[in-house]
Amino acid sequence: MKTFFFDHQSGKLITSRNLLNEDLHYLDLFSKYIRSRLLGNKNYIKENVILSTKPYWKNFERFAIIKDHLVLYYNKGEIAPRTISSPTLFIPLSYVNPILAKELVSSTKSNNTIISPKGSLDSVHKKRVALTFDDGPHPTITKQILNILDKYDARATFFMVGYRAEKNPSIVKEVWSRGNEIGNHSWSHPQLTELSSKDVLTQFNSTNKVIQNATGKPATVFRPPYGDTNKRIKDLISVPQVLWSIDTLDWKYRNADTLLPMVKKNMHNNAIILMHDVHQSTADGLEQVLAYLQKEGYEFVTVSDILPYR
Ligand code: ZN
Repeated sequence: MKTFFFDHQSGKLITSRNLLNEDLHYLDLFSKYIRSRLLGNKNYIKENVILSTKPYWKNFERFAIIKDHLVLYYNKGEIAPRTISSPTLFIPLSYVNPILAKELVSSTKSNNTIISPKGSLDSVHKKRVALTFDDGPHPTITKQILNILDKYDARATFFMVGYRAEKNPSIVKEVWSRGNEIGNHSWSHPQLTELSSKDVLTQFNSTNKVIQNATGKPATVFRPPYGDTNKRIKDLISVPQVLWSIDTLDWKYRNADTLLPMVKKNMHNNAIILMHDVHQSTADGLEQVLAYLQKEGYEFVTVSDILPYR
């Protein structure tokens, strides 16, 4: 089945590109929302839903606007078992108003907008970067990094290793109280894919406990050591897993002067940059990086704040 939607006044064919103003950020927000709605239906097949809601224009071509609803149509067998006849999804237009093309915006205004990036829509187009520091906290280096971050009014995410957090609870607390995000990076930095599910959970839960004791809250994100992960591990862990898009290789070079060139060479918007707050050279090279990125117009945000834009 292929359904096309026409604007009855102009007779013009309206595609998903028209609908979302050809904006890829909107497409991304839209597909995430549709995915979460479809996954809420237990009759649908998770893998199929994920495939059908990848942020490609072609995935959202079958729709109609009926009164004040946007209706999405799916073929038999596409997202649900064949026993269920062609599924449809109804979305009040007011929910998606902020990302619709102007001529399609519903007159129904609602405070109940579902698709709305944090803050104003302008924020979708901002330049932003998430700095991340792994393997700490370190009794002296982490604090130096906090001071440099404060100087640039920057927030970052610290992926902490449980046994180090246990030894330095006051630093865990300080990272948190100065506005940074705390991530879980396992208890002792093993290759998680080599461990039993029970041991993986122990690595995660024991680290969360130490973080919670120090700050009152468990970690909001998780990063598997060495980026070593698989579906089993993803399914076990309850918070988003976050890898990185730029590896500064600071652990290898241990040279303050290579940090900025590595960032410059690979920089892109909404980057997640990997560094380690256990090497003095990283703390020594960080200020150059911050000065450069600030001059380039980047805002420094936490990993959780950048995820909706990736
Ligand atoms: Zn690590």
